[in-house]
Amino acid sequence: MSVATHWPRVIVHADLDAFFAAAEILRRPELRGKPVIVGGRPGGRGVVAAASYEARAYGVRSAMPIAQAVRLCPHGVFLPGDHAYYRELSGRFRAILERFSPLVEMVSVDEAYLDLSHSERSVGPPLEAARAIKRQVREELGLTVSLGVATSRLVAKIASDLDKPDGLRLIEPGAEAVTLAPLPVERMPGIGPKSVERLQRIGVTTLGGLARMPAAALRPIFGRRADEVIARARGIDPRPVNPEREPAKSIGRERTFGQDLTDRHEIERALYHLAERTGRDLRREGLQGRVVAVKLRYSDFETVGRQRRLPRPTDDHQEIAEVAMDLVARLLEERQAPVRLLGVRVAGLGPAAIQLTMFGDDPLRRHRLNHALDDLAARYHAGLVIPARVARHT
Ligand SMILES: [Mg+2]
Repeated sequence: MSVATHWPRVIVHADLDAFFAAAEILRRPELRGKPVIVGGRPGGRGVVAAASYEARAYGVRSAMPIAQAVRLCPHGVFLPGDHAYYRELSGRFRAILERFSPLVEMVSVDEAYLDLSHSERSVGPPLEAARAIKRQVREELGLTVSLGVATSRLVAKIASDLDKPDGLRLIEPGAEAVTLAPLPVERMPGIGPKSVERLQRIGVTTLGGLARMPAAALRPIFGRRADEVIARARGIDPRPVNPEREPAKSIGRERTFGQDLTDRHEIERALYHLAERTGRDLRREGLQGRVVAVKLRYSDFETVGRQRRLPRPTDDHQEIAEVAMDLVARLLEERQAPVRLLGVRVAGLGPAAIQLTMFGDDPLRRHRLNHALDDLAARYHAGLVIPARVARHT
């Protein structure tokens, strides 16, 4: 019983279920029970931002190209995103959580950590508090939230995912390692597909297996993070919940290549992937930015960067990719040498107040974008440098 259990810390991870899709169903109840896919229109080149559980049954997943989602689920209801509306719901979600503790850290529009360690007298034992959170979110917002309750952020985060949707999983103090042990390594945040593959090669497939590894064996995969990864696999994570955490000043991705890139075609493809992931992160956070910046590190570690201010904020990965390619092409005109690392970043962030529909349905912009993409595709195949395209942005 939790009443008798001593909790050194009580951390809750709260994650709204299929948030964008659930939000759309909320204001259009006739969509309930249907496969709802948010992120773009069929025929568009966007990616899925969220899919209802009915759509997931067809294999549709977040970050999948819309075209693929259409193939999997041709009768799905495809909707553009409305981030202003999602922001408003997110604010109400946060206000509910703040009734339970002043220590609430929003990590994205639909996801937060709460520290209830010092809230027991006002909100009851952890399980009661968690049930109350779920009830208030359901009654006041009409949404379901999955909760994980544990002694650390990491274990709470893993727990909230175990019974999704509408889940509630409490992992008692002392039960962390044994609960994590049978789970596949990819359940741990921060272990991506590449690491999973490399772990498999050394015979590690579960978090229990990972927890038992000597740090030296993991150093080739995780470098200096090896000890931390092992501790986390055992359920140890001392990071505090930080309500003061500064909202991100910029969002971006970078990648160091296994082999230096020399081919323009490869460089452009890498930039496109980085832009795609940056755009996806922005959309997930409900943010748009006005500045696109690139970073380039040559094989001799000389590192250079460039940025450009856009006429209006964006979260569109195609637009980000286009600018990033142009900026990198200019850098490569100044110095042509093998490339070790590329980074794409969007700064000057603000809430995505503009509905995607305003642009998504603007034929002029579509026209221009499609031309740019055709252009880009042509150059891509020709393997040429992307020249300045300032004219298109002004
Ligand atoms: Mg969620």
